[in-house]
Amino acid sequence: MAEENPLRRKSDNTAGCGNAPRESVLPPRKGVIVAHRGVAVEVRFADGEQRPVRVKRNSGHVVGDTVLVRGEALERVPRSTELRRRDGRGTPHLVAANLHVLGVVVAPQPPPPRGFIDRAIVAARAAALRPLIIVNKADLDGAGELDRHMRNLYGESVPVFLLSAKTAKGLDPLRRFLAEGLRGAFVGTTGVGKSSLLNALCPDLDLTVGALREARGVGRHTTTVATLHRLPGGGELIDTPGFRDFGLVDIVVEELIVHFPGFEPAMMVRCRFRDCRHRSEPGCAVTALVSTGALAEERYQAYLELLSEVDAAQGEARRREWKT
Ligand code: GDP
Ligand code: ZN
Repeated sequence: MAEENPLRRKSDNTAGCGNAPRESVLPPRKGVIVAHRGVAVEVRFADGEQRPVRVKRNSGHVVGDTVLVRGEALERVPRSTELRRRDGRGTPHLVAANLHVLGVVVAPQPPPPRGFIDRAIVAARAAALRPLIIVNKADLDGAGELDRHMRNLYGESVPVFLLSAKTAKGLDPLRRFLAEGLRGAFVGTTGVGKSSLLNALCPDLDLTVGALREARGVGRHTTTVATLHRLPGGGELIDTPGFRDFGLVDIVVEELIVHFPGFEPAMMVRCRFRDCRHRSEPGCAVTALVSTGALAEERYQAYLELLSEVDAAQGEARRREWKT
């Protein structure tokens, strides 16, 4: 890989000049990137040792990457999953690698924006992550109702957890779930309590909570750095500033038509056309589900609304591309 070459040359040049063993003859040590600080990544090895390893600034490594380290040379192991976000211009950025689950955090206050949960579930599945819904602020009025609503809409598709990051009530089932050795991250709109939840689950973290976080965080701790944290009972969480706060999850039509929550039975039978958008195509397994009542009309309408939105955004993005 490109970033290794200068290091290799360096070791080759010094070989024979000193007593240091050539890096290439050292057995590689396997580790995971737990933080990324521009010109260095922090690697945690299997024996628990942790140390920085220098990398090129745009090496492309991210938190969660499995790496083989030989002296100062670092090689990335192919990833099983990649979590991306798009910036304001629609350019995708890799946020973290090798995650298993994405926790979609919602709360009675602020309520989830329309379509947010569906988008987040589709985005997670498209990235081969298992989505889960976390209803936070169980101590507030309206949490029970939101939880019932979530179970009603999504209970058949994804696990739903009701908890309070503030009182710690209900944290254990989520801890047990993650303790299966799963690596996860949270996503949700600002104010739902993602930082509070990370603080409650990861004792080594101390994130500032509340609306003033971004302003206060500058210089206090490096808020833009993604970090990976081991949970005391097992499992890991990635704190992804800049990702966790985004309110609108970007998805494309091709992902929406196969991953919309509630379409699972239809995806097993399949529609006649591979690229069926489930509007009025003949042999559509989704509209068949709606006609038998197996898929609620409300869910189908939510899908159609999201489809129009995503389709329009995609068309707009394509037009912009042609212009530039
Ligand atoms: P984030 O923007 O999603 O990271 O949310 P924060 O963790 O910064 O929390 C936003 C606000 O919600 C803060 O005032 C927290 O104290 C509050 N909060 C977080 N979790 C809970 C909870 O379980 N119950 C209640 N009542 N408030 C909470
Ligand atoms: Zn269809």
